[in-house]
Amino acid sequence: MTAIMGGNALIHDNYLLASSLLLACICFYGGHFYLKTTQHHKEPATGVLIALSSLMLYLIYSGGVDNTGPLWIYIIPPVALFLGGLSVGLFNIFVFISLAILLMFYDNGALLATEYSVSFKLRLIYSFLTVTFLSYCYEYSRKLSLNNIKELSEKFEKMAKHDALTGLSNRRDMMDKIQIEYARISRSHNTACLLLCDIDHFKQVNDNYGHEAGDIILTQLSTHFKNMVRQQDVVSRWGGEEFLFLLPDANLNSAEAAAENIREKIADIQFKIGKSSTKITLSIGVSTLSENRSITDSIGKADKFLYKAKQNGRNQVCSSKSVALNKNTTN
Ligand code: GH3
Ligand code: MG
Ligand code: MG
Repeated sequence: MTAIMGGNALIHDNYLLASSLLLACICFYGGHFYLKTTQHHKEPATGVLIALSSLMLYLIYSGGVDNTGPLWIYIIPPVALFLGGLSVGLFNIFVFISLAILLMFYDNGALLATEYSVSFKLRLIYSFLTVTFLSYCYEYSRKLSLNNIKELSEKFEKMAKHDALTGLSNRRDMMDKIQIEYARISRSHNTACLLLCDIDHFKQVNDNYGHEAGDIILTQLSTHFKNMVRQQDVVSRWGGEEFLFLLPDANLNSAEAAAENIREKIADIQFKIGKSSTKITLSIGVSTLSENRSITDSIGKADKFLYKAKQNGRNQVCSSKSVALNKNTTN
C-alpha cells in the first residue's frame, strides 16, 4: 500500500510525500529481508515500527492528500501490538499518540503544515484510543489461545513419548533416541551399549499378589532404574515387563559392569506391596551399538543374550563376552 500511495504521490508531483512513502516502503522491505536472512525479529520489528510511526507523524504534520493523512494512524495499534507484544506494544503506542497530540495541539497547531478543526483532532484521538483498546483485547486473547495450544501440544507430546504407568520413555521415543545416538556414533566412531532387561517369573508375582501389585512393582522398579543410571543414559519401557537401556559412550566392559550393578542392587530390594513385600530378579542381555552394525541387529543381539540369560537360569547378565567366557571354561 505504501508503495502504491508513493507511486500515486509521485504521479501527482507531490515529491515530499512520495519520498516519505517510498522511504518507509524501503524500510518495510529491508526489515522483511533482514528477518528472512538473519531470523532475528527484534531489530527489524523496531525498525519497521519507527519507520511506520515516523510516516504517520509526517502524514499528520503535512495532512497528506486533501488532509486525509491522519486516517492512516489506525494502522499503528495492531502493528505495534503484533510486533512488540502486549506491554512493549502498548508503550510504543503511548509514545506515538503523545507525539501526535503534541504535534496537533501545541500552540494551536503551530507545528503543523496544515490545519485541522479541534473536533476532528479530538475525535481522531478518541477513535485511535478505541482501536488501541480493541487491538489490545484481540492480541491478549490471541496470546491466551496460543499459550493454551502450546500447553496442550506439550502435554500430547509427553503422552506420545512416555509410558503412562511408569513415566519412562516408551518404545517409540526410545527408537528415536537410539537413532539420534546412532547418528552421533557414526560421526564420532564411538560405541554405545544396549541393555535389554526382563523381570524373572513376573507372571508368578502377578498370580501371587494380583495385577495391581504387579503394576506397583513396575512403577517402583522404574524409579530405581532412573536413580541407577547416568544422566545421559536413557531407560525405556520396551514392553510389558521388559526394559531397554541405552548407554551412550559405553563399551561392552563398562556396560556389562553397569548391568551387573543394576541386577545386584535390584535383587536386594524389598518391593513393598501394601503390608507385604517381595523381591524380584532380572535377566539382562547386553549388546554394543556401533556403526558397523544396524540398530535392528543390535537390539536383536541384546534380545538373543537376554534369552541366553533366561536359558542359563535367570537372574544374570549375558553378553557376547560372557558367552565366549562360558564356552572357554566348558571347553
Ligand atoms: P520369564 O522369567 O520367562 O520372563 O517369566 P515371566 O513370567 O516374567 O514371563 P512371561 O512372558 O510368561 O510373563 C510376563 C508377565 O508379565 C505376564 C504379564 O501379565 C506380566 N505383565 C506384562 N505387562 C504387565 C503390566 O503392565 N502390569 C502387570 N501387573 N503385569 C504385566
Ligand atoms: Mg519376564
Ligand atoms: Mg518378558
